Amino acid sequence: MGRVAYVNGRYVPHGSASVHIEDRGYQFADGVYEVIAIQDGRLIDEEPHLDRLGRSLDALAIRWPMSRAALRHVLREVIRRNRLSGRRCGPGAAYLQVTRGIAARNHAFPASADPVLVMTARAMPPFDPEAARRGVSVITLPDERWRRPDIKSISLLPNVLAKQTAVEAGAYEAWLVDDAGQVTEGTASNAWIVTADGELVTREADRSILSGITRATVMRLAREHGLRIGERRFAVAEAKAAAEAFVTGTTSWVKPVVRIDDVPVGGGRIGPLSDRLLAWYAGYVETGGRGAA
Ligand code: PLP
Repeated sequence: MGRVAYVNGRYVPHGSASVHIEDRGYQFADGVYEVIAIQDGRLIDEEPHLDRLGRSLDALAIRWPMSRAALRHVLREVIRRNRLSGRRCGPGAAYLQVTRGIAARNHAFPASADPVLVMTARAMPPFDPEAARRGVSVITLPDERWRRPDIKSISLLPNVLAKQTAVEAGAYEAWLVDDAGQVTEGTASNAWIVTADGELVTREADRSILSGITRATVMRLAREHGLRIGERRFAVAEAKAAAEAFVTGTTSWVKPVVRIDDVPVGGGRIGPLSDRLLAWYAGYVETGGRGAA
């Protein structure tokens, strides 16, 4: 049996799932999304993801397409129909997208349109600790996004272009840099450094970055283990001279960064704090996080 998608009230074969050509997501990127990790049938950090979905919808004045309880039910059904709901099903990721709806093309909000909800789920490769510990490289690029990256909008063209530049440069991620030379975040992850005296630093979650759910979980795990965290800006030069660096994200987990623009970080090897954070986060996910079954 193949994959199944949910499209506005119907479960349909993934290969033939489609939306209307005048869906405002298609014409204006007028919508929001979430990606939630699945482990052994559990949705990792489901509630914070749904809280953030609510904040994104509110910010754009898009209605919830259904009640939160109904949405949680559909999520479970999509996971079940894609055979990711039981133990030993392996890891996966659920994608959900809400657009403002279908209406004749006109920039202003339509007088009446119902939000359109789409959900998919897919299997992900199992976590490979050895590969993760080898670390990744990042390049730095100007942050050319709009001024509200805190809203998880489906308007991702600058992220797409920056990620493509990173891939073509052989890098895992691009770190985006604001006009003052300070790192904001990655194209699909939050950026962190570790200072020489062991402080974890990541940009404050103001309007200039997405307030990552993995970022918040890693912050909590780090604090529980007595690590110090500074939520502040850091420049590219500070990152290149840092003791360690890493990224966090739903599909990245914790990924040590060992090279920034061809400058080795921490001697080009995973550092001790990144290593511990990676292990704590892997343990958190593998025990189901705070997700409900
Ligand atoms: N920043 C951006 C721009 C993202 O797109 C993402 C995730 O896709 C993140 C950060 C990490 O957020 P989360 O940990 O909630 O996946």
